[in-house]
Amino acid sequence: MFRKSESIEIKSVDEIALMREAGLVVAKTLETLREQIAPGMTTADLDSIARESISGHGATPSFLGYYGFPAVICTSVNEEVVHGIPGDRVIRDGDIVSIDCGAIVEGWHGDAAISILVGEVDPRVRELSEVTKAALWAGLAQAREGHRLSDIGNAIETCIRDAGDYGIVEEYVGHGIGSAMHMHPPVPNYGRAGRGPRLEPGMALAIEPMATLGQPTVAVLADEWTVVTADNLPAAHWEHTVAITDDGPWVTTSLEGTRL
Ligand code: MG
Ligand code: MG
Repeated sequence: MFRKSESIEIKSVDEIALMREAGLVVAKTLETLREQIAPGMTTADLDSIARESISGHGATPSFLGYYGFPAVICTSVNEEVVHGIPGDRVIRDGDIVSIDCGAIVEGWHGDAAISILVGEVDPRVRELSEVTKAALWAGLAQAREGHRLSDIGNAIETCIRDAGDYGIVEEYVGHGIGSAMHMHPPVPNYGRAGRGPRLEPGMALAIEPMATLGQPTVAVLADEWTVVTADNLPAAHWEHTVAITDDGPWVTTSLEGTRL
């Protein structure tokens, strides 16, 4: 998993400031979507809102055209885990809708995802989303100088396992980020602590736990993008980009630019 031959990109303070600009566009776009989502809208409607928001803030979407991806956000509803393509699927009361968004400012990236609960959602699904979000923040808190990369996955796994009998998706992981969206190293959402590269100021990671209400097994639909749970039970996905700085973790895709 940790190939020594591949190095982790180290960003300057100025470059991380541009990542914060991109991250703020992502944060504002996701906030707009959270405010505007309603039963009866299609996932394509959400994509239109995101497209307008990203360009309105003077940024470029990361996802559009990425390996041919046809939209600016991924919209994953209920049993869909990640990489859902916006289209004619209608959002209904009771859905959990995970939205993943990426933006570029002057060549520097931000990448984040939220799971939105629409209307009256099954309390078990609400709990699943809250646990996944808490696991994300447990992972983000580990993104500090001197810690090892696998401390992040260990914190995420521990948080989810302590909360109950949830599935942790292993096929999809977080990643290094900066001058590209997906960079070395992979950041798994599980594993033993104390392994892998030592974290240094100037590194940036996208941390993104995916948890399920049933089994962790996933499958990819015929569209070759949409990842669904094999047992058709709901999933949650939360993601932030975090920069490791001299002053600790800086969550560049939170609205507040949270420092931990
Ligand atoms: Mg993402
Ligand atoms: Mg990502």
